[in-house]
Amino acid sequence: MTADTHDEVVPFEAADGRTANLLHVVRTGAESVPAKAAVLLVHGAGVRANIFRAAVPITVVDALLDDGFDVWLENWRASIDLPPSQWTLDQAAVFDHPAAVAKVLEHTGRDSLKAVVHCQGSTSFMMAAASGLLPEVTTIVSNAVSLHPVIPPLAKLKIDWFHRPVRALTRYLDPHWGVEAPDAIAAAITGWVRLTHRECANTVCRLSSFTYGVGHPTLWSHSLLNDATHEWLKNEFGPVPLSFFFQMSRCVDAGYLVPAQRFPQFPDRFGTGAPRTDAAITLLAGEENRCYLPESQQRTFDYLTANGRGQYALHVVPRYGHLDMFMGKDASRDVFPLILDALRTN
Ligand SMILES: [Zn+2]
Repeated sequence: MTADTHDEVVPFEAADGRTANLLHVVRTGAESVPAKAAVLLVHGAGVRANIFRAAVPITVVDALLDDGFDVWLENWRASIDLPPSQWTLDQAAVFDHPAAVAKVLEHTGRDSLKAVVHCQGSTSFMMAAASGLLPEVTTIVSNAVSLHPVIPPLAKLKIDWFHRPVRALTRYLDPHWGVEAPDAIAAAITGWVRLTHRECANTVCRLSSFTYGVGHPTLWSHSLLNDATHEWLKNEFGPVPLSFFFQMSRCVDAGYLVPAQRFPQFPDRFGTGAPRTDAAITLLAGEENRCYLPESQQRTFDYLTANGRGQYALHVVPRYGHLDMFMGKDASRDVFPLILDALRTN
């Protein structure tokens, strides 16, 4: 966190009884200043709420605070700050996000909020929104992927030919093995990645590329990160269950999100029929995203425009990829204005 803010940790209980938490980011000395709206930021798989606070002069959290928003970061069940589990997108959609939204509203006395959601924080949040479970959310800004995941063909092959067989040996992959490999399997996978990923000397960075796709790197362009952020990310990645990749593989095959379980709250199919939300939805995609191709967000935009009743927008950002949309050294100039505009006008 930046020097002039502190975190108020607000635990919440998910609907299945699991404990998670929210970080309320408060500017020191400004506790009583009313903010214009509450904004909930939702991280992706195998990281944590802090992923939105890279080692850059202006993080997206700073930009939101500067603009007068009341900023909340959600650690949902995929967070590496919580005990590892075989989580599913469904559980996050039904159990975590509605409870997190309710807790923010309870805490602030507000009756609505806005959200900025990334990757699997976005897919699960959009699952919840499309199911009518988030009626208090008036505006959603989604990065990378939402209801229609599209990944490179080689990445799909990798899930089928690496992730699937390796589950006999481990239930998780963890880029943090680049700092400390806890057992022989972790050491073997890390050794393989050191041999096959020569793009930099940061083994956590290389393992994150290996875990989440087939890029060198997968989640950002090195040219868009500063050195401090490349170092900082070593502590921002942790375990992701292999079971997640199998759910995602089924989604990619179908062309839309497919539940792992059958919750009665869900529609028969995601990505067809009317979404059960009137929220204004702005979809962001890095043009160079090789984790989820920009076509992912294009398909969701087309679907929403044809079937929804809200205001929708799509921005494809040149040069940017997946997480550099938030972590990039120039993201405050190239990306955050799009986020702020979407939150201000809707
Ligand atoms: Zn690197």
